[in-house]
Amino acid sequence: MTEATLTRSVPEILAPGRLFIGGEWVDAASGETFEVIDPARAEVLTEVAEAGVEDVDRAVRAARDAFEGGEWREMSPRARGRLLWKLAERLEERKDEIARVETLNNGKPLFESGIDVAMTIQTFEYYAGWTTKIEGETIPVSVPFQFNYTLREPIGVVGAIVPWNFPLNLASWKVAPALAAGCTVVLKPATETPLTALLLADVAAEVGLPPGVLNVVPGRGSTAGEAVVAHPGVDKIAFTGSTEVGQRIATVAARTVKRVSLELGGKSPNIVFADAELPSAAKGALAGIFYGKGEVCAAGSRLLVESSAHEQLVGMVAEGADRLKVGDPFEKGTRIGAIVSKRQMESVLGYIEKGVEEGARVVAGGGRADIGPGYFVQPTVFDDVTSEMTIAREEIFGPVLATLTFEDVDDAIEQANDTMYGLAAAVWTSDVKKAHYVASRLKAGTVWINTYNLYDPASPFGGYKQSGYGRELGGQALDQYTQLKSVWVNLR
Ligand code: NAP
Ligand code: MG
Repeated sequence: MTEATLTRSVPEILAPGRLFIGGEWVDAASGETFEVIDPARAEVLTEVAEAGVEDVDRAVRAARDAFEGGEWREMSPRARGRLLWKLAERLEERKDEIARVETLNNGKPLFESGIDVAMTIQTFEYYAGWTTKIEGETIPVSVPFQFNYTLREPIGVVGAIVPWNFPLNLASWKVAPALAAGCTVVLKPATETPLTALLLADVAAEVGLPPGVLNVVPGRGSTAGEAVVAHPGVDKIAFTGSTEVGQRIATVAARTVKRVSLELGGKSPNIVFADAELPSAAKGALAGIFYGKGEVCAAGSRLLVESSAHEQLVGMVAEGADRLKVGDPFEKGTRIGAIVSKRQMESVLGYIEKGVEEGARVVAGGGRADIGPGYFVQPTVFDDVTSEMTIAREEIFGPVLATLTFEDVDDAIEQANDTMYGLAAAVWTSDVKKAHYVASRLKAGTVWINTYNLYDPASPFGGYKQSGYGRELGGQALDQYTQLKSVWVNLR
């Protein structure tokens, strides 16, 4: 095979991809499969078995058996931690292959997939260290001669449902803490991007994760996804995706009183004061919206600029956007890859049209990038956006930036918080007092000061308002996968 055909082919285990249930690769009960597309070429990459309700039931039973049965439950925390560390090591050994598959399937530039895989490895390493540190407490109760303590126990079977923007990385944010806590998992990847979730299952099998501890069931959200959420054998749902589907999931999960954590959309403000280092702020604004093609829940999709610096900053951002290379995600130098699907590209282009219609002014990009049949959109910057315009309110989930103006600190805070979302925000200023004051006033789960898009497995991530509830990463995520038991002991 030539270099080019090798790049474009998927590993044998994915040709075709199958379901991973109870430690085995199996076909769907219905025999159905679906096509997986390479969005950079608008070509079929491979086929994957499509899980239906029956397959999900089988996966949940496998996870339940693995949870209740001896091996996983009785494995010492140390041994469980070593296994998670081994999994991280094996991911490291296979990182180039996994990054290549992520880029093939999602369309993001190869260097970005490399970062995703590195983050995934770090996440498993981080939670490998937690297995021996999940503790209960002794409680000083006031009832005489009684001793009270808590046990922190794994919640049970976890249903993890993830989107297509960071297919492997967002799966690891759920799978790693769940496994560290002693839970077992049924993972439902997005229809567009099931491949790296299947590679994760392959790696888990290679390092000897007991059968049933991690199951992967690609399939449609409305069938397989909903079956996971409705299944009485699932104790907890961890979801990342749209607010709309999050609402649906919370409703369906309520019928069986499952615990739910939701990481939903955003319309994150990137606030630039005139006293900021403007070139850094411009770079931050570009990275904030154009990293990951803007298909990032925490994308800095609203750029709020103090009026006295507005013209200068928007000039720098527009110029920078024009210079970003759009194209083949495997080519060195590409900064903007392909939009994940035709449907998503059309949705993004629709928002660009709407922006123009409602009176905003395009200062960079503004349409489809004409690069063969793939789904490419030019990095687009709008100026003269007002807060009631659709492109200032709705999550576009593509490379489209809306620029607004503010007059002073209070105005900046008010506009920044004028959204139903609250996932992330950033502040750019050289004034220390102002930076921390604004950070304290922003209704967002993450605030970056003079930077953007930083993540670490040790730092909690999640939303305020309709960006969801519960926190991923950090020690806090373990609360989502454990429950407390209060034990009373009569001492007399
Ligand atoms: P989505 O529909 O919310 O998909 C997220 C996951 O939920 C996918 O695995 C999906 O399966 C599944 N799902 C869909 N309906 C379900 C149901 N009724 N029960 C259980 N699971 C269900 O997101 P999308 O359609 O891929 O993208 C639409 C928009 O969501 C984007 O344009 C963006 O605004 C937002 N989004 C946000 C994030 C984020 O990180 N916060 C990520 C992706 C998308 P299918 O793949 O079969 O739909
Ligand atoms: Mg979808």
